[in-house]
Formats: sequence, C-alpha cells, structure tokens
Amino acid sequence: MYTGTYRTECRFDCGTLLSSYEILNTVRIFLPGGKCCSDPEQAQNVSDCILVGQRADGTVYAEVRLEDRTVTRTAPAPVTPDEDALEFAVCSLLYEVLREMTGYTPPWGLITGIRPVRKVIQLLENGKTPDEAAAFLRRKYHISAEKMQLALDTALVQQPILPHSPKEIGFYVSIPFCPTRCSYCSFVSHSMQSAYKLIPDYIARLCEEIEVCGQIIREHGLTVQSVYIGGGTPTSITAEQLRQVMETVRSHIDIGSAREYTVEAGRADTITAEKLRVIQEEGATRISVNPQTLQDNVLQAIGRDHTAQQAVDAFRLARSMGFDDINMDLIAGLPSDTLTGFTDTLEKILALAPDSITVHTLTLKRAADLHGSLGGRSSGELADVMEMAALSAKSLPAHGYRPYYLYRQKNTLGNLENVGYARQGKENLYNILIMDETQTILAAGCAASTKIVSPSGDISRIINHKFPYEYIHRFDQILLKKQKTRELLACL
Ligand code: SF4
Repeated sequence: MYTGTYRTECRFDCGTLLSSYEILNTVRIFLPGGKCCSDPEQAQNVSDCILVGQRADGTVYAEVRLEDRTVTRTAPAPVTPDEDALEFAVCSLLYEVLREMTGYTPPWGLITGIRPVRKVIQLLENGKTPDEAAAFLRRKYHISAEKMQLALDTALVQQPILPHSPKEIGFYVSIPFCPTRCSYCSFVSHSMQSAYKLIPDYIARLCEEIEVCGQIIREHGLTVQSVYIGGGTPTSITAEQLRQVMETVRSHIDIGSAREYTVEAGRADTITAEKLRVIQEEGATRISVNPQTLQDNVLQAIGRDHTAQQAVDAFRLARSMGFDDINMDLIAGLPSDTLTGFTDTLEKILALAPDSITVHTLTLKRAADLHGSLGGRSSGELADVMEMAALSAKSLPAHGYRPYYLYRQKNTLGNLENVGYARQGKENLYNILIMDETQTILAAGCAASTKIVSPSGDISRIINHKFPYEYIHRFDQILLKKQKTRELLACL
C-alpha cells in the first residue's frame, strides 16, 4: 500500500477557479495511506504528484506520477465549462488513472459525498424509474452493483416516509454526558467525572431552552413529527434529572402529534429499570441500546466499563418492560475486533431480535490517523472491515430488516458507509431527516444545531455553545440565538 508523500497541481487556463478539495477526496479513496504535501516550498522536492487541469486545445487531463510510474488520461473538456462540470471531468479522469495504477476498484466508485441516497431520490422525484436511476448513477459514478442496490433499496424505503410540509419539524434535545469517553468518540461528549458538578445547572438551563422552543413552535404553527433526546448518553444522568428534562418536553412540546419519540439510552452501564420507567411514563416510544460490539475484549479496548452480558441484560430488561421499538448500534472495525468477533456479535444481536439495527463503520477522529497506519489496520484487516459491512448487508435483510438510512463520513475505514436497518414500520424518521437535510430541526442543549430549511431548500444553521460550562454561563447568548431562530422561521 502506498504510504508516501505526493503533491497536487490543478491548472485551469480558462480562468475558472477550481478548489482542489474534490480532487484530494478522489485521491484519498485510492491512496488513504499517502500524505498530501501542502507546503509549497517542501512540495518542490516531492516527486510523486497528481496533476490535473485544462489545456488550451480544449481538453482536460489527469496525470499521476507515483514511485517512477506515470499514467495520463485526456478527454474533451465539458461543453459547459463551469466549475462543477470541470471538476467532475477531471475527477473522472483521475479516478480512471488511479484505478489503473492501484488495481483497486472502490465499492462507492467516484462518489465522495456523504449522501448517495439523496442522489437516488432526486432522480426518482424527477421521474426516473428505480432501474433508470440506478443505471444512470452506476454509469456516472462507477458504483458497484451491491452498493447501488443498497442505496436504491434505502431510497425506496425512505421516499414514502419523507415529510412534505415545511411546517413539519423535528425536535432534538442534547444531553452531552457519558460515564467515560470511548476511545474512538468524535462527538461532543463529556465524561461524568469531569462534568458531574455542572449537570444540575445544565439541566436547569436546558429546560429553559426547551420551554422557549415550545413557544417558538406554537408561534409559528409548527408540528413536531419526531422528538430525539440524544447525546452523549442521555441515561448518564439520574432518573430524577431525566424526568425533569422529559417532563419539560411533555409540558411544552405537543408529543401527541409526533410520529416517534426516541431516547438514546446508549450504554448498558447507564440503563436501569427506574430510568426506563421514566422514559416510558414520559411518553417516549423508542430507545437505543448501543453495545457497538458484544465482545468483552473489544469493549475493554474501546474504554467502556460494561460487559457484553450487561448490554444483553439491558436489552432484555427493556423488552420485559414493554418497549416494542428498540434499536441496537454496532460498529465494524473497532480496535481489537476481528471478522470472527463481528460475526459472533451480529449473530447474538439477531438472536435478540431488536426492531432496528444500525451498523456503523469506524470513523477515525482525525484525517491524520488515516495516514501511514490506516488507524493501525493492515490491508488484510481493512478487507475484513469491508467483509463485516458486506455480511451485515446480506444477513440483516435475510432476517427481515430493510436498509432505511445510509450516510458516509470522511475518514471512515475503507471509505465505507453507515446503514440503519429496520423492520417495516420501525424506521426512525429523525435519523432519515438528519441526513436528508430537507426538514427543519429545532434543537436545544449543548452543541445542538438548529437547522432551518426554507421552502426553496436553503438551509440556515444556528449552533449552540459546544461546552456545558459555556452553555450555562453564556445562556443569554443562547436566548439571542433563539430570537434569531424565530426570525429565520418566518420564511416557513
Ligand atoms: S457513548 Fe457515544 S458519545 Fe459517549 S463517549 Fe462513547 S462514542 Fe462518545
């Protein structure tokens, strides 16, 4: 595997300014262990290079010189030489060159964006049949038959569920605390030890913000379709504190009109019968119990303080109390996990028969972690991660789960995807909407991001302070942000 350093050069003589961002994303699909030199002085001494651009003779080109091997491709420039068309033309050439040089055919082809399903839905909305949409996207982006089928199946499950009125919104509440911090965590989450003293004040402020959100929803005649209490691990706080938050939600938000109400219970070491009773009594309809793995050695390696048996017990406890919509999250590619371990986890989860199962692929915290070590993985181990995703895509539908949301992230092992699978009728609208970005989401709490989608599709975002201390002590600014939200919502 290539682990050297290369430089890039983008030359467009028609004067079009072209960012090299997509070019780099395309290169990273093939050379995840390589490093791009961004210092112009040092770059002069780097012989490996990626050259793309446009020539005066009306052609575009991509040339890759790596370790004494050079491959070049040329094609006519696009008829409409706008920035997007030029960028796509050179990325396509670069894709062909790198595929030839590395011998690697990426499963998602040339798609580097995070929402392949949106592309399918747009084509379906424009009148293409599912077969036509799939054929078009496969031709344009070189997507493998398996991944195209996954994206198409997901789009077909999603399409009838997606809301159509801009007045229908999602509501999110953030409780950003966890018992300990997992080694791979890239969320805004604070361990209970470090944030313990702040929690009562945090909850008091959070309840104030929820109340203001309720006023805004009523003033603008909005309907809440989905409520999601996420984190962190919302069940990290005490049962009384959870009751305080959920009582506030019930008093100020019309949860009766919502299609679903989720509390992300998350980690088994925080789930008790008392907290589950609060969740039930306060009107939530869905919980997540997220073991990520049922291998004790892997749980230990990622810094979790609970065992696989505790996760199984937490699931069974919730079932015995009558929860009929439980999600379980898994991660492919966790440190110390193996294909055998993942297969065993998947079998044990299937035996529990949760209502939905989300399979993530490990995302490394920093792009830099991909360089050189590939997050500590050898090529063989990366092939295993691919196999884990393929195994999930095969065995979950065979057990009655349909893919209903799918997204990709940067710095994900093998450039793979995250997929939510659910039994029919148990699809979580909030998960779809957070990725689809076609519905307004009003959010309360630390690092919560309110997203206002205008009827024309323009998106405005208002993001709360990232740390609990800031959130508590600069709460006047949170109220100003809510005033801004009011003004922006006037467009709906
Ligand atoms: S449970 Fe989730 S949010 Fe909490 S530390 Fe682990 S990965 Fe981060």
